[in-house]
Amino acid sequence: MTSDVDTRLRGPAAYELAKTALQEMETASVWPTPLNFEIWLHSLSNPESGLAIELRRILANGPLTEDESERLAAEYLPRARLSDEIRDAGAQLSRELSSVAGAIADAQRNQASYGETLAEADEKLTSGGDIQKTIASLAAATRRVSVENAALEQRLSDSTREVGKLREHLEQVRREAMTDALTKLANRKAFDDELERQCEVAERDNKPLALAVLDIDHFKRFNDTWGHQTGDQVIRYVASVLSRLALPPRVAARYGGEEFALIFPAETAQAVEAALDHTRREIASRSLKRRSTNEDLGAVTISIGLAQWQPGEKPVGLIERADEALYASKRNGRNRMTVAQDRAKAA
Ligand code: C2E
Repeated sequence: MTSDVDTRLRGPAAYELAKTALQEMETASVWPTPLNFEIWLHSLSNPESGLAIELRRILANGPLTEDESERLAAEYLPRARLSDEIRDAGAQLSRELSSVAGAIADAQRNQASYGETLAEADEKLTSGGDIQKTIASLAAATRRVSVENAALEQRLSDSTREVGKLREHLEQVRREAMTDALTKLANRKAFDDELERQCEVAERDNKPLALAVLDIDHFKRFNDTWGHQTGDQVIRYVASVLSRLALPPRVAARYGGEEFALIFPAETAQAVEAALDHTRREIASRSLKRRSTNEDLGAVTISIGLAQWQPGEKPVGLIERADEALYASKRNGRNRMTVAQDRAKAA
């Protein structure tokens, strides 16, 4: 299936997009490396995407470093990278399979020729030929077949090991493609998949499901004051507290720059509210230090919007209600949680 972004990257507007990308890179003093070019094209073709938002956030704080380009690519361009890795693994697998197929064909030929040797020996022995000579040639043929069988066995066991390694590698690639590089939480793509799945499970099993969206308060101000490296540390700090909260089956994800999302399958509303409120207090309870200068950064607070899934509700509707509740938390003074209204009441 061709996405809108693909159409924009391949359609008639693609040349304009490429020119704008070059101009923007020059203005931002960023080298037009293939990786940066790819990042820019994707960001320009979808300015509301997580990649574009994150790129703007970084550029607002200074030039884009090589490390940051790598991080953006690993985080936001995973599909293309994943398909490259899968293609490589597929090619390697097909080399392994054809080499095993070759070894098996050799073994079949050797077995056939051994069969012929046995038939000849049988004929010589019944027609009274030289017994000693026949037995010697039989022994030699048997030794040959046994050596060839051992080689085939070795080849098959090497292949099994190689295929096992490939499987592990693909599993690692799959995990990386679903993980946010900075926080090691689930990324946006993994979150979208999981929320979709959990909505189906809730519908099927008639179980409760809650979604919380969280945002670090005054993050931009924080970034502007202390720089984006310290900003990244704050994101990691919040993520580390969330990962302690989100033991399976709960799932914590980095949803955007300084925004997180948490999925709570099959828990009562009261239990979810209590857990989130505890986490909100825990995050705010610690005074952070700037690692490079040891300056006091003060406490970081988060605002939360919580929505309970309602029968028949699609993920997008649930996200919208949680987002509205988050904005209510922001409007009402931050460092608080707001529970979203039901759809019927909100309408
Ligand atoms: P990190 O710097 O990689 O630290 C990982 C974990 O090592 C921390 O997890 C904490 O358990 C321990 N740790 C590292 N440095 C110290 C330290 O100076 N004192 C103590 N008592 N423990 C330390 P934690 O606390 O969950 O933090 C996760 C991440 O959050 C950290 O990763 C860092 O990126 C960020 N972070 C947390 N606290 C601060 C802070 O005060 N200042 C800054 N700049 N970043 C912080």
